[in-house]
Amino acid sequence: MHKAGLILHQGLDAVVAAAQPGITTAHLDQVFRTVLADHGATSNFLGYHGFPATICASVNEEVVHGIPGERVLQNGDIISIDAGAVVDGWHSDSARTVLVGTPDPANVRLSTITEEAMWAGIAAFAKAKHVGEIGNAIEDYVRAQPGEPLGILEDYVGHGIGSAMHQAPDVFNYRSGMRGPRIKAGMVLAIEPMLVRGDIATKTLDDDWTVVTLDGSYASQWEHSVARHKEGIWVITSPDGGAANLARYGVTPVPIPQN
Ligand code: MG
Ligand code: MG
Repeated sequence: MHKAGLILHQGLDAVVAAAQPGITTAHLDQVFRTVLADHGATSNFLGYHGFPATICASVNEEVVHGIPGERVLQNGDIISIDAGAVVDGWHSDSARTVLVGTPDPANVRLSTITEEAMWAGIAAFAKAKHVGEIGNAIEDYVRAQPGEPLGILEDYVGHGIGSAMHQAPDVFNYRSGMRGPRIKAGMVLAIEPMLVRGDIATKTLDDDWTVVTLDGSYASQWEHSVARHKEGIWVITSPDGGAANLARYGVTPVPIPQN
């Protein structure tokens, strides 16, 4: 899974660098495909319930599951890129939000808070006894931010990951009121808050995939796959295991023991 995580990280780096005004989302999918192929990894998105691409590219009011295509990125767009990789049957899953060209400060704030909410959730996973504590930490972080209130999507949640992309347990991004399963060494979770600048109600478009906000408000998604092992946690989709972003929470990631 660690190998799959590092290849995914490289692929997302390449996609983020390519996400410029005038580029199609289909091109971003091609960029990601090339990185997977160059490293001998395969996609867990392509063909998933018939999904036709290796990345989800969700622009502006699209929240998740956007299909790459002929849409041309415009200056000021906010695009969430979600992707995964498989190596030797082991999966990774990660997402980043990209601000295209000169961004609207309100969208910068949306993406920054969504990313930090993810890190707050990851930090909680390092010390939590139950999975529900992750959602509590995410919601508490978001609610504590001054200024325009942001909505936390409830229709889509994080998940366990391993020999398949989506496994138990569900990882809620909000205070669900449920303790959730007990956390054990060996658990790997995809922690992936999705925030919107308006109402959290969504609908799926006629393509059967693209999820948009009903009120047209803009959305952001950030995601990492994170392993909890006997000695600590390690973010498998980040080369430093999350060290740079977890230091402010007093969490030091511990490399996964090799055998
Ligand atoms: Mg994902
Ligand atoms: Mg996921």
